Amino acid sequence: MRIGVLSLQGDVREHLRILKSLNIDAIEVKYKEEISSLDGLIIPGGESTAIGKILRETNLGEYLYNKINSGLCVYGTCAGMVLLAKKIKDSNITHIPVIDIEVSRNAYGRQLSSFIKSHSFKGLKDDFEMVFIRAPYITKANSNVEVLSILDSNIVAAKQNNILVTSFHPELTKDTRIHEYFIDMIKNKR
Ligand code: GLN
Repeated sequence: MRIGVLSLQGDVREHLRILKSLNIDAIEVKYKEEISSLDGLIIPGGESTAIGKILRETNLGEYLYNKINSGLCVYGTCAGMVLLAKKIKDSNITHIPVIDIEVSRNAYGRQLSSFIKSHSFKGLKDDFEMVFIRAPYITKANSNVEVLSILDSNIVAAKQNNILVTSFHPELTKDTRIHEYFIDMIKNKR
C-alpha cells in the first residue's frame, strides 16, 4: 500500500515518520503523476490559505477534487480539513470541496489557540491525545457525515466515505492509532 503526503507546505515529515513506522510505503507528493498511483493521500496541517493558493495556481486542486470523488482515500489534518470542506464559515472560498461539512478556521481564538487534550474518538478503545494548533472545528455536518469526535460540543473529527478529517494533529504524538484508522479505511475499500 502506498500513501502520499501532500508536500506543498506544513508538517509533512511527521506524517511520513508515522506511516513508515507502520510499514507503509510513504512518499512526499507534489505532482499529479505522483498522486495518480496512490492508495491514499494525507493533506497535512499548515496554512490553508497558502496551500489553497498553490492548489489553484497549479490546478492540483481540481485534479484532487476529481480523484477524491472517484474514490481516492484522503485524510486532512487541521488546515487539510479546511481544504477539504465544502463550506468555510464566513468565506466564499473553497479549495477541494469534497466533504459535506462547514468548518470555522482558527475557531479556538487567541486564548486557546494551541492546546492538548486527551479525548475519545469513535472506534478507539482509549482516549487519544489531541494536539490543537490554531485549529479549526466543524460547525455543521450533513447527515451523510459520520461524526467521530466531539470535544466541548464542537466536532473535531469526521468521516464521509473515503474522506477523513481531524481538527487536531495526530502526527505530533507517538500514538499511531488515527493513522491506522486511515489505513484501515483504505484496506476496507479494496
Ligand atoms: N489555522 C490554520 C488554517 O486555517 C490551520 C492551522 C494548522 O494546520 N495547524 O489554515
